[in-house]
Order: sequence, then C-alpha cells, then structure tokens
Amino acid sequence: MQKGQIRVQTENIFPIIKKFLYSDHEIFLRELISNAVDATSKLKTMASLGELNEEIGSIDIEVILDKEKKTITIRDRGIGMTTEEVDKYINQVAFSSAEEFLTKYKGQGDSANVIGHFGLGFYSSFMVSSEVDIVTKSYKGGNATQWTCDGSPEYTITKSEKTERGTDIVMHINEESEEFLDATRLRSILKKFCAFLPIPIQFEGVQINNTHPAWIKKPSELTAEDYQSFYKELYPFAEAPLFWIHLNVDFPFTLTGILYFPMVKNNFEVQKDKINLYCNQVFVTDEVKDIVPEFMMLLHGVIDSPDIPLNVSRSYLQGDPNVRKINAHITKKVADKLDELFRNDRKEFEQKWEQIGLFVKYGMMTDDKFAEKAAPFFILQNAVSKDFMTLLEYKQKTETLQINKEKKHVILYTTDPVKQDTYIQEAAAKGYCVAIMETVVDNAFVNNMELKWEGVTFVRVDADIAENLIDKKEDSPLLLNKDEETTLNDLFTKQVHTPGVKIECKGLSVESQPVIITRPEMMRRMKDMASMNPTMSWYANMPDEIIMTINGNHPIYPSILNESDSTMQENKIKNLADLAMLSQGLLVGEDLTAFIKRSITLL
Ligand code: ADP
Repeated sequence: MQKGQIRVQTENIFPIIKKFLYSDHEIFLRELISNAVDATSKLKTMASLGELNEEIGSIDIEVILDKEKKTITIRDRGIGMTTEEVDKYINQVAFSSAEEFLTKYKGQGDSANVIGHFGLGFYSSFMVSSEVDIVTKSYKGGNATQWTCDGSPEYTITKSEKTERGTDIVMHINEESEEFLDATRLRSILKKFCAFLPIPIQFEGVQINNTHPAWIKKPSELTAEDYQSFYKELYPFAEAPLFWIHLNVDFPFTLTGILYFPMVKNNFEVQKDKINLYCNQVFVTDEVKDIVPEFMMLLHGVIDSPDIPLNVSRSYLQGDPNVRKINAHITKKVADKLDELFRNDRKEFEQKWEQIGLFVKYGMMTDDKFAEKAAPFFILQNAVSKDFMTLLEYKQKTETLQINKEKKHVILYTTDPVKQDTYIQEAAAKGYCVAIMETVVDNAFVNNMELKWEGVTFVRVDADIAENLIDKKEDSPLLLNKDEETTLNDLFTKQVHTPGVKIECKGLSVESQPVIITRPEMMRRMKDMASMNPTMSWYANMPDEIIMTINGNHPIYPSILNESDSTMQENKIKNLADLAMLSQGLLVGEDLTAFIKRSITLL
C-alpha cells in the first residue's frame, strides 16, 4: 500500500472546490460520465488501430445506485489506468490544474462550466461525496489499482482484485447530498446531461441516451421525418416545427447543430431559452444568451461546438472572436434559409408568414446584418386583398410624398383591420394598399425601419397625413357655400366637448363618411411608446389630440342644415360626431350611454 500527500500548495483544496461549485452540484455526474465516455472512446480508437490484445466486449457505461451503501458508481469499460497513471493523472496533473484554476478564477462567479476544461472534472465528485474510490484496470494489463480519498489531502493507493478492464468511480454520497440517492432525481439529471452522449449509458437496466442524434449526421442522410422526430425527442409536447436549419461548419471553427422554427400560435407565447448548447454531445447549458444573436433565442434546437470557450466569464464571451464568428454564421444561415424558402415556394412562405414574420421583424430590428439580408423576403400583407407584397413591390405601387425636404415612399398601415376598416376602405377605394401591422413588435418595427430604410415612411391609415394623402388623389372642392360651412362648423363645435378635438370642414368625396376622426401620426406613436414605459405614463395619460374632419360634401348635410327643429338638428349632429368617435373606439362610458339613448329617440 502506498500512502501519500496530494501535491498541492493550498492547504486543503476541497472546501474551496465545494464553495466554488456550490451553485450547480449536479454537474459532478456530467464530469464523471464525460471522463468515462472519453476513456471508452479512446479504447474504441485503440481497438480500431489493432492495439487491443483482448475482445472489446460490451462498452456500455453503467450508473449504479446503491441506496443502502449510499453510493453511486460510474462504471466504464474504457482504457482504465495503471497505478503510475493514477498517480500521474489524479494526484499530480489534476492538482496542478486545480491550482491553476483557483488562481485564475478566485472571486469570479459562474465557474461551474469551467472545471472540465481545467482537468478538475474528476474532483467535482467531492462536492457530493465524503469519500471517493477509483478502482481501475488498464487495457495494458497488470494489476488493478484502488485509489481512495476522503476529501483531505491524503490518499491511499492499494492493489485491487478487479478483473475487468475499465474504471469504477465509487462515490460515497455525503449527508447534504442524499438527494442524489433518489433514483428519479438521478435519472432526470442523467437525461439532462447525457441524452446524446456517443456511448450507451445504462441506468437501472435502461439505456438513457441516443448515441446518434440527428445533428451529428450528414444532412444528406436525413429525411424530413428524421428532423421532425428529433424535434419530438427534444420537445415531446411541442407542435411540429415549421422548418429547420442544419448547421455544419468545420472552418474556421467547428460547429454543428439543428435550429428549428417553432410553431408559434400567438405573439405572446414566444418561448425563449429553447436552444441547448452541447460540447461534443455533452450538454453544457440551455443559456445561450451570449452565444447566439438575441433574436435567434426564439428558435429551438441544439448547437454543438467545442470552440465556444467555456472557461471564461459570460461577459467576456460576447467579445470572443469565435463567438462573434459563430453569431455571424448562424445569422447568415438563418437568413439564407428564409431566402431559399421564399424563392422556392413563395406561396408556402406567405402561409407561414404569420409565424415567421414576428421573428423576421425582431431580427431586422436588432441585427443590422440580418435586416440587410431580410429586405428581399420581408413581406407585407394587404389588408383588403390579403395579398402579400415585398417592400420593393410595395414601393412600386406607392406614390412618394414630400416629407421634410425629402421625397419618401409612404407605406400606409393598419394596426387593427377591424377597428380601422372605415379608413382602410377609403384608402383602398382610391387605389392605395394598406399593409397589416398588428403584431406586438410592429410599433417598434415601424419606428426602427424608418431609420434603416432610406426613403420610406410609415403612416397609419387613420393618421392625419394619411387623410391628406388620400384626399389629394381626388381633389374635391367643398360643395357648401361659406355660410353653410360656418353654420356646420358652429353646430359641431357646440356639440362636441371632448378635450383635444380639433374640428375642420373639408370637401371629401361623396362616398366618404360624413365625419372622419384622425390622430396625428407622431403624437400617436409617442403615446404608444409612452404606454409601454412606466416613466412616461404622464405622457400616455395626456388627452388625445383628435382631428375631426367634417366631410361637407356628404349628402346628409343639406337636409340637416335645413332642419327646422333645432333639438332634432343638434341630436343628429351629435350622433354623427359620436358615430365617428365610436368607429375609433373612442366613445366610452356616459357618452356611449347617451349616444344609445339619443339614437333611439332619433329613430
Ligand atoms: P480531465 O478529464 O479534464 O482531463 P479529470 O480530473 O476529470 O480531468 O481527469 C484527469 C485525468 O484522469 C483524465 O485526463 C484521464 O487521463 C484520467 N481519467 C479520469 N477518469 C478516467 C476514467 N474513467 N478512465 C480512464 N482515465 C480516467
């Protein structure tokens, strides 16, 4: 028997390791099983090179739970270690790595991902164990070895009776960690970290992993069903995805993975944190915030890359050149895929727009490169015909308008095709297309794209400039004489008491509504933004600026002007004003009740 002191300057390393890794104790399983997988993969390589003097036999890794003895054993049939190797890799190398790790990362937060990369993986077992035994027999032959350590810097090495090649790591689980002796808990941790490891992992007689996940295969080997069923494997309860992108890069970094476009049923149901990051099929994290572009977080799936540096802090990640390249690559791939779908089958693309549109818009707002790439396949839906147009197609159909010394294409849009129907019909009757912009991001999108797209401006169909624009197309002179115009103006001014309302009389087409309400575009946008920002609530609560345009050419007015019963005349005027307010959803409470009563009297 050999006794020794682990060569390490730090008095006692274990309390420090425990403290460091406190937040994420369960990763000891990942670390130990990764070691077992590595040892087994090395053995397979040896065997394939003809360097193995015995039958390879079963190479499955076993996780054995013994509740009575309070142990968890990880058993592999890999290359094993000789006594010298145990001394070298466990006693010396690991501890010099441990020191390096500690000096480098003392005082830093999220270090849980770091240990594996510093040769500290094995020692994570001490987070949950009062004692750990390594019982190992090398493929090279010779005696088997047992190494035992109770978490103090002293260890013992003895001969072991083990006859099978490979390594058993036996953890005597400590009192605070007895949760891991629960089979259900253990299985769920194994499922999380080991679901796609390349060597079969057995627990209680059942293999828990798929050793050949779809992302490691060549795209040419996979059918649509394969992609769909892999998605089901990842998210058993999700609806089938819309489409997917298989990532496969060898240079200048290695990255594989499959990203899925989920079926989004409504705008509010968007789920983030659905991409899992793997490193050579070992689960690392589901927090990919700093690794994939922000807007890609709406996607689901897996990314596997050994080139994402995990041994650095999160804030450093964003600046890492590899991570930046990976970001750019994923963005390009996603844009290319969308472009391909658009070109190959525009009809289908349009059908899926309801789902992908939100993602595309979000991407265009947050990522300039993506905005550039997306411009050709970004589409707008016509509120009346329901046809889709690209930006270019829309521009070709629209007139330009002089705004602040610049000629701009005006995109008329509606945020609520039902409420704004009157305006939409009006615009459509004069040959304008009105685009539907009703998703949660559209308000911000409109503001953002005006900055990105030169020569384009968005105007909501019920805005003041929209009305001017639509009117210009058909210049109707006012059919009323000056006296009649003044009377009509006075009648409305007397009846409308809503604060912030500006009344004006104009000659619109006879088919237009008798009274039209518009709100200044800029004012409304400011209010929309203010309503989402608590510090601007005073602005959001300010009375609305409302423009009430009386269409003096409407055939209803001559008879109202000739009305001899003044109460009747006032009621009719008030009702016309209320109807316009109602169509904008601005008639509420007492005013609404009064309107209903008055309408009954009039009838
Ligand atoms: P790392 O795996 O990052 O190198 P570890 O502390 O986990 O660091 O392991 C140190 C070394 O011990 C490994 O590099 C390997 O040589 C050896 N080792 C650990 N576990 C096993 C095992 N199950 N079978 C064979 N060798 C192992």
